[in-house]
Amino acid sequence: MPMPRFLCDRMFVRLGRYLRAAGYDTLIAADGAEDRALLAQARREHRLLVTGDRELALHARAPGHVLVLSSTGVASAAAELSRQVPIDWLAHSFTRCLLCNARLRRAPAGALERVPRESRQLAGELWECPACGRLYWEGSHVRRMRGCLRRWQEASLEVASSPS
Ligand SMILES: [Zn+2]
Repeated sequence: MPMPRFLCDRMFVRLGRYLRAAGYDTLIAADGAEDRALLAQARREHRLLVTGDRELALHARAPGHVLVLSSTGVASAAAELSRQVPIDWLAHSFTRCLLCNARLRRAPAGALERVPRESRQLAGELWECPACGRLYWEGSHVRRMRGCLRRWQEASLEVASSPS
């Protein structure tokens, strides 16, 4: 089954970044984007529109393209999302740029010089965004996000295996 693709509205900017961290192709709505335009984009690009706007869901004539979440915090929104769409939070983690959604590639030799000096020893493998040039390595930010992804993954497995 192909990985679902997402379009997050402005209420779910943080969730959108975490979906990118988990490797899911995720767009985040621009400020002021209209619901109708978002819906049209979701349909056109075969994305799930992640929204908190129930009105929009009610008006949506695009079954299968809208996913309404009632949670606002990123962790509870992630749990709610996982219950509606199977998400593997870890399998493809850190394969996309958190800022622009592009797939990361292995950074070219010499990129280590762009890593802050104090992080170089710990950096390990370096990945680069081909679109914005940002570098990713297993630093504190990535570790923190990975910790969240791991917790969410464990929680979703527990839910999946508990008798209902
Ligand atoms: Zn980027």
